[in-house]
Amino acid sequence: MSKRPRPLVAANWKMNGTRSSARTWGETMSVRTLSNALECDIVVSPPMPLFDLVFQALAQNEAISLCGQDCASRGNGPHTGDTSAEMLVEAGCRYVLVGHSERRRDHGESNAVVKAKATRAVTHGLVPIICVGESQAQREAGRATQVVRSQIGRSLPDLTSGIDVVIAYEPVWAIGTGRLPELAEISEMHDSIRNYLIRRAQTWAGDIRIIYGGSVKAINAGKIMRLQNVNGCLVGGASLDEDDFWSICITCDNLQRSHI
Ligand code: PEP
Repeated sequence: MSKRPRPLVAANWKMNGTRSSARTWGETMSVRTLSNALECDIVVSPPMPLFDLVFQALAQNEAISLCGQDCASRGNGPHTGDTSAEMLVEAGCRYVLVGHSERRRDHGESNAVVKAKATRAVTHGLVPIICVGESQAQREAGRATQVVRSQIGRSLPDLTSGIDVVIAYEPVWAIGTGRLPELAEISEMHDSIRNYLIRRAQTWAGDIRIIYGGSVKAINAGKIMRLQNVNGCLVGGASLDEDDFWSICITCDNLQRSHI
C-alpha cells in the first residue's frame, strides 16, 4: 500500500442536541476550521430537524461536511418517516451513515437493507459510512472477525473502481459504554478488514477509509488513530461537546502530519 488515506473524523450526535447547542457547535467549529486547515476530513451528523441550522452555522464551510444519520433504501415516495438520499443531497449532505448498530437493533435492519441504502447513497453521489461490528457474545465466542467480514461482504455496495465508501468498525459492546477493546484487537480487526478489501477491491482498496468507533474520547483517540489501518474515528457521546470533538480532530491532524 503506497500512502495512508486522508483520515476522517465523524461526529454522530444520534438523537441529541438542541437548536441552541447545535448553533454553538456549528459556529465554534466553523471558526476553528477556518483558522486551522486540518489534514483530515471532518463530518457532522446531526438529527434531521437540526440539519438546516447546522448548515447555516457552518456558513458553507467546506472543511466540515454534513452527514445524514440514515437514508432510505428507496427513492422519494410514500414512505412516512424516511429520508431519501436525494433529499440529503439537497440538504447539503456529502456523507450518510448506514447500518449503525442502533438502527440494525431498533429498526431490524439487515445487511441486505444496509447494502440497498449504501447503494442508493453512492448512486446519488453521497459517501456512505457503512457501520459494522460484533456483539459481546460474538466476540466471546471467538467469532468477531467472521461476523464483521460477513457484514462487510453483505452490506457494501458492489465495488466498482473509484467509488468512495467508508467503513466504520464499531464493536457493539463498546458503543456508549466507556469500554474500549484492547488496541491489539482494534488493530487486528482493521488489518483483517483491509485484507478483505484488498481481495475484493484490489488496486484501490488501500484508499478506502476504515475508521474506528466505540467510546472514543479525547484521552484515547491518539493511541487508536496511531494504529496502521485506522484512518480516523466515528465519535458519538464525545462529539456533542465542541471542545472535546475539536481536541480529537487536532489529534488526528497531528498524526496525519507526522506521516506526510
Ligand atoms: C457511535 O454512536 O457511533 C459511537 C461510537 O458512540 P460512542 O462514541 O458514544 O461510543
